[in-house]
Amino acid sequence: MNNKPTIAVIGAGLGGAAAGALLQQAGYPTKVYEQAPAFSRLGAGIHLGPNVMKVMRRIGIEDKLNTMGSHPDHWFSRNGLTGEYQSRIPLGDFARENYGAAYITVHRGDLHELMVSTLDQENLFFDKRLVDVNDQGGKVRMTFADGTTEEADLVIGADGVNSQIREKLLGSEAPIYSGWVAHRAIISAEKLKAYDLDFEACVKWWSEDRHMMVYFVTGDEKEYYYVTGVPEPEWCHGTSFVDSSQEEMREAFKGYHPTVQALIDCTETVTKWPLLERNPLPLWHDNRLVLLGDACHPMKPHMAQGAAMAIEDAAMLVRCLEEVGAHDYREAFELYRTNRFERASRVQKVSHDNTWLRQDEDPAWVFGYDVFETPLKAPEAVSEESPV
Ligand SMILES: Cc1cc2nc3c(=O)[nH]c(=O)nc-3n(C[C@H](O)[C@H](O)[C@H](O)COP(=O)(O)OP(=O)(O)OC[C@H]3O[C@@H](n4cnc5c(N)ncnc54)[C@H](O)[C@@H]3O)c2cc1C
Repeated sequence: MNNKPTIAVIGAGLGGAAAGALLQQAGYPTKVYEQAPAFSRLGAGIHLGPNVMKVMRRIGIEDKLNTMGSHPDHWFSRNGLTGEYQSRIPLGDFARENYGAAYITVHRGDLHELMVSTLDQENLFFDKRLVDVNDQGGKVRMTFADGTTEEADLVIGADGVNSQIREKLLGSEAPIYSGWVAHRAIISAEKLKAYDLDFEACVKWWSEDRHMMVYFVTGDEKEYYYVTGVPEPEWCHGTSFVDSSQEEMREAFKGYHPTVQALIDCTETVTKWPLLERNPLPLWHDNRLVLLGDACHPMKPHMAQGAAMAIEDAAMLVRCLEEVGAHDYREAFELYRTNRFERASRVQKVSHDNTWLRQDEDPAWVFGYDVFETPLKAPEAVSEESPV
């Protein structure tokens, strides 16, 4: 008989899908509730560093991702105006040998579809928007927008930057608009053949206050992608994205290198996203509720590590439940927070400052991390303060 507690994961984003898959593998009766009626292949890419690929190995999809993704040999940083190289960070074989897994870039929709496919489909529920949660001591009662209610022993808030579970723990508070937006566009690599230019597999073009990160999102290198960081003092479109345009891109990257101009010339559709943050939260869990990912540490995406932190959180949370025994869930949740707070807060800070790999530096503290092997720190041994 299974005497493990029942667990509800709210949100089937990248963090929620990782948590659901790892919990189900470990034998926890787990249901995942997602507000969206279905997922679509949004036009966006994502980096998966070796730190995340180790979690993908555990979930059982590392090989598929290695086939699906592009494998850059380097992360290049270049001066957006002159093209001069500012850093050459070795990835490829170097990453496999030194950090223990590949560094890939992939289409976010393809990654998400693959991760969601690893969940027990009978315990994955779409169109289930959580509107209230009541931690009654013995069980948690969840109420959804369709009027239905469900119960679970433990509830994981993997419900993103506007998390209902965070609101339950800490009250209503909008995320902070950082003053920066990100434009995102996918370009057919076929179109780029018309240019006598080198389109590198993973390159970030920088100038003082803005940048454009560019990489392939498929292993066959047919789809190229850019994502920017551009200052925009006001944002009045809530937390959703809006359409942008080629003209807006030309204006934002006026004077940039011909390679960047070629990418803008080849842009068909481009969207614009507000970059939202929160300061490190004083509370990650209370009684039977616990948070992970953007629900507790949303960040600017400038290290390409936001989803990585959500996925690492999921793996550490399951590790701590196993370590302590899930019936001591309060202790397990505190062990989890203790072993995630410093790292997530540090990544949040470096992402905020947008300094990552701008010049040559050793990225081993990020890429070499193994969430399953890193020694666990006892709760009292860790300071409450962010280390940076
Ligand atoms: C422009 C941009 C580029 C980025 N690039 C990268 C990158 O290269 N690498 C990287 O690691 N990260 C990147 N990130 C960050 C990354 O997207 C996020 O950190 C990551 O998606 C967080 O995952 P999550 O599962 O915590 O939240 P989300 O992905 O936001 O998932 C939350 C899920 O919960 C659901 N949900 C919300 N509310 C409810 C509710 N009430 N009831 C039920 N379901 C609910 C949502 O529909 C959603 O499916 C980028 C972000 C941006 C904006």
